[in-house]
Order: sequence, then C-alpha cells, then structure tokens
Amino acid sequence: MSLELLEETAARKPDSLGELSDNLVFGEGNPDAALMMIGEAPGEEEDLSGRPFVGRAGRLLDQILASVGIERNDIYITNIVKFRPPGNRNPRPEEIAASEGILMKQIQLVHPQIIATLGNVPTQYFLKTRDGITRTHGHWYHWNGILVFPLFHPAYLLRNPSRERGSPKWQMWQDMKELQGKLATLEPKSGRLVIDTTRQEGLF
Ligand code: URA
Repeated sequence: MSLELLEETAARKPDSLGELSDNLVFGEGNPDAALMMIGEAPGEEEDLSGRPFVGRAGRLLDQILASVGIERNDIYITNIVKFRPPGNRNPRPEEIAASEGILMKQIQLVHPQIIATLGNVPTQYFLKTRDGITRTHGHWYHWNGILVFPLFHPAYLLRNPSRERGSPKWQMWQDMKELQGKLATLEPKSGRLVIDTTRQEGLF
C-alpha cells in the first residue's frame, strides 16, 4: 500500500460521514517525515483547495514552523477527519471512529518519529484523555513507539494574539523550541511500525 493508493481509498467517503463535505483533504508533505502534525478536520479553505492547513490558521502554522527553522515541506501534515464538518463544528466521536482506519494506515506509511497534535481533538484522541490542551501541551507522551507532543491549535492562537510572557503564543514558542530541539537529536528511522491498540487492531 502506498500513500497514493490510500488517498484513493480515502476518497470513497463512508456513509457514516454523510453530513460532512464530499471533498477529501487527505494530507500532504514528506512521505518519509520524522514529524507528522495532525489537526482535527479541514475548514472552508482546506475544503475548497483539498490541502490541509491553508487558511488563516494554516498561514499562522507556516510562520510558527518557520520561526524555528522547520520547513513545511519536510514534515507531513494531515487531520484526523479528512472531510469538512458542516459549519466547522467539531467532529463527532463516531466521525472520528469512521476516520481512524485511514489515519492509522497513513501513520504506518509515513512512520513518523514524532506526532505533534494540534489542539484538543487530536490530543485527546491520541492520549485517550479528557485533559485540555492547556494542561497537556509541551509535554512528551508515548504512543505505539512514537513520541506525541501536543501543541496549541493555531486557530486558538489567532483568538489569543498576545505575545506576553506566559500567554498561549509565548508558550507555543517555548513548545516549538522544545520540538525543534528534539527533532535535531533523533536517530535515523529504523524498524517497522506496528500499531497495537485494541480499537485499531481489526483494521490491518
Ligand atoms: N484546522 C484544522 O484542524 N485542520 C485544518 O486543516 C485547518 C484548520
């Protein structure tokens, strides 16, 4: 299975995602990336362009990456849910469940060493927690041999523009320096990724 074939599979929207847009936003970037960033679901501009994180939040994400010298083209960016929910509402648990098979295969193919989750939805999904992002961001977690590093969602930073010490933007800057530092110390990738969770094991 290649990412191209998986994208073709993903484009066949399951009936359980019927309320969502018909336009697939699969993900993009380096297919062998060390870092994968995962958001929640596409918004309007993503829906129209077919690309993740290209709207206002995406443009801020580009600036955030550039601020620590991470090239967007070097990483892989996607969302848990690959179709835009109506009115940009949060994806429902059953929509996340209907999307996770594609996401798991995508993670297996890219085999990142670090997954940075953007905001509450993907963070709570990977950490299986109800803790909010203000508590979880900037800490390292382990998931199937991959490091998970929660970050504020850039849309949240657009709503909280202060750069004062202690503000969400200031905290994001600390987190990005930590993430960049960890990326610089990674050993080359090795081995095959085996995702071992009870919810996901039937999918392979
Ligand atoms: N917000 C997300 O979570 N994902 C996108 O692709 C765009 C905005």
